[in-house]
Amino acid sequence: MQLNRWNYYSDFVVYPAVVLALSGLALHITPVADWWRCGLLFVAGAIAWTLAEYGLHRFVFHRIPGIREMHEAHHHDQRALIGTSTFVSAPGCLAVMLPPLWLIGGSAFAFGLTGGFLLGYLCYVSVHHLVHHRPARPGSAFFALKRRHALHHHVTPEGNFGVTSGFWDRVFGTEIQLRQRGVAPVPSQPQMRHAAEE
Ligand SMILES: [Zn+2]
Ligand SMILES: [Zn+2]
Repeated sequence: MQLNRWNYYSDFVVYPAVVLALSGLALHITPVADWWRCGLLFVAGAIAWTLAEYGLHRFVFHRIPGIREMHEAHHHDQRALIGTSTFVSAPGCLAVMLPPLWLIGGSAFAFGLTGGFLLGYLCYVSVHHLVHHRPARPGSAFFALKRRHALHHHVTPEGNFGVTSGFWDRVFGTEIQLRQRGVAPVPSQPQMRHAAEE
């Protein structure tokens, strides 16, 4: 949905606080000798996010009526402040993730995994915002991120679903291959400049 600036940018304030709170709770209730377990859970949660990011973009944002139209609005106006309100996504994630994880592995398990997962989400919204609002220096890692997402927007929405990582696109065969699609294998410099400026 179209958000006002306050609602759009609140992700970048609320999510760091939630991630810090969950990490702090996980460490607080775990003996110091077992803090490494919290670290592993946190990393596992962040990795799980990258798969969720891929699956949500491919099967929810581009498929589910209602959500699809909202995502199409982003495809049509890439700089518009379109997204999910923090005050819907944060309580929603916590309500969906914490109770089942708590039942499965206890409180530290739930706090650690959810904290890592939401750190992954924070990375996703940050990278997605930056690729659409900041220029990139050709050859930089950020340029590669921008280019991959620009191909999703400008070549076909049926590929490059990962925003923070191309890993799952390579695993599931949805990485956009310009040669196979009969598109010029190397985008012209004006095209790349255009993509880099979005
Ligand atoms: Zn985008
Ligand atoms: Zn998309």
